[in-house]
Amino acid sequence: MKPELVIIGGGLAGSEAAWQAAERGMKVLLYEMRPGTMTDVHRTGDLAELVCSNSFKSGDIFNAHGLLKEELRMLGSLIIMTADKNRIPAGSALAVDRSEFSKMVTEVITSHPNIRLIREEVPEPSFETPVIIATGPLTSDKMAEGLRKSIGYDFIYFYDAISPIISAGSIDETKVFRASRYNKGGDDYINCPMSRDEYENFYNAIMSAEKTPVKEFEKIPYFEGCMPVDALAERGMDTLLYGPLKPVGLRDPSAGKEPYAVVQLRQEDRFGQAYNMVGFQTRLKWPEQRRVFRMIPGLEEAEFLRYGSLHRNTYINSPLLLDDSLRLKKTDNIYFAGQIVGVEGYTESVAMGLIAGISATMHIRGDEFIPPPATAAIGALLNYVAAGGTSDFQPMNVNWGLLPPLLRKIRDKEMYRKKLVERAIKDIEKWKTQLKM
Ligand SMILES: Cc1cc2nc3c(=O)[nH]c(=O)nc-3n(C[C@H](O)[C@H](O)[C@H](O)COP(=O)(O)OP(=O)(O)OC[C@H]3O[C@@H](n4cnc5c(N)ncnc54)[C@H](O)[C@@H]3O)c2cc1C
Repeated sequence: MKPELVIIGGGLAGSEAAWQAAERGMKVLLYEMRPGTMTDVHRTGDLAELVCSNSFKSGDIFNAHGLLKEELRMLGSLIIMTADKNRIPAGSALAVDRSEFSKMVTEVITSHPNIRLIREEVPEPSFETPVIIATGPLTSDKMAEGLRKSIGYDFIYFYDAISPIISAGSIDETKVFRASRYNKGGDDYINCPMSRDEYENFYNAIMSAEKTPVKEFEKIPYFEGCMPVDALAERGMDTLLYGPLKPVGLRDPSAGKEPYAVVQLRQEDRFGQAYNMVGFQTRLKWPEQRRVFRMIPGLEEAEFLRYGSLHRNTYINSPLLLDDSLRLKKTDNIYFAGQIVGVEGYTESVAMGLIAGISATMHIRGDEFIPPPATAAIGALLNYVAAGGTSDFQPMNVNWGLLPPLLRKIRDKEMYRKKLVERAIKDIEKWKTQLKM
């Protein structure tokens, strides 16, 4: 078989991309290095192995994760259809029997007449045949080095240092003030002022909060610029006052003076629906982040769109490198898919595999690829990685803050979400007809 498309990496994204392309008649050559060469977390040679949890998160369509899955179902995702077939009871979450799930994906891929699977590590990207690089967060060292050489040392990262993101509507505006440090840059930041007592209580809560244990392979050489807020706190009571909580240059207009400490929130998306907690990358467990960060004045009711984290993760600076078909800009045959494009999570990685599989196929066939609508979860996520929210690009999971707001104001939160979901489903239906799916 002379391949028309090469896919490197048979994880969640690579398997999805291979299926999407093969179902459209492409001759696909899929490389997977396991079981001959393993990563630090994979345990089997199966394709689409779930490396940690056996859950694809919420199945509720009125949850952003559930909506993304529903869209993927509508778009004929192999991974989500296989997850549905191997579903086990887990409340509203879509959890699967991990072993049966991966075995079934492997069986479907290896028996597909248009897919040939080769069990080999690809040491560096080869750009002769159109290629989708889907080597994941634990891309092999050789491939990572090859990518560094071809896309540039400054555009590939090996660790995430992620700060939590909060929905704008959940911030208590009466307790915060808008300003930039030393008034440089207008009212760009939301500032949460703290008194000495508030700071000390907060500090003690951080110190005693439960942290995620760090696995051997995830031991991270911290750079000062991305030190976790809890690691900084361990250096002493006042360290945070010279770091992410420093108050200098910020005058609280209601008190008429500089507060004792300040937490700054920076706008995350172009619609101003989401705010990033500046410098709050953290190892605190998720429930602890919710408990401790809600002690910050103004954030008592904070809705976390994304929690903070710090872990091993290979990803590229997609907003600079990729176009809205996940193709490397200025090339016509190199695509990226999965977590490596800067998304977080199983379903998100699958979504980026589905897009790359479809877009590569369409380009190879000489057809125009129209990206999915940004009003749908899959389009919003693609839009985030291709257009990027901020200058310092950080990986993102799917969340409501990524979707453009409705033009019509609706006060009731449930009704608002319902309308967002209706719009997304309608627009995905329309997209399918545009793509003649
Ligand atoms: C430790 C860890 C735990 C995680 N836990 C969760 C979780 O619980 N829930 C969640 O939603 N997300 C989780 N994620 C994030 C992410 O969703 C998963 O990593 C997901 O599997 C990413 O999909 P992918 O297809 O991009 O990468 P992968 O599924 O990892 O697939 C990449 C594949 O490429 C292969 N490969 C790598 N280099 C080469 C090469 N040079 N040549 C050939 N093959 C190669 C690998 O063997 C692998 O099979 C976790 C990530 C990590 C690192």
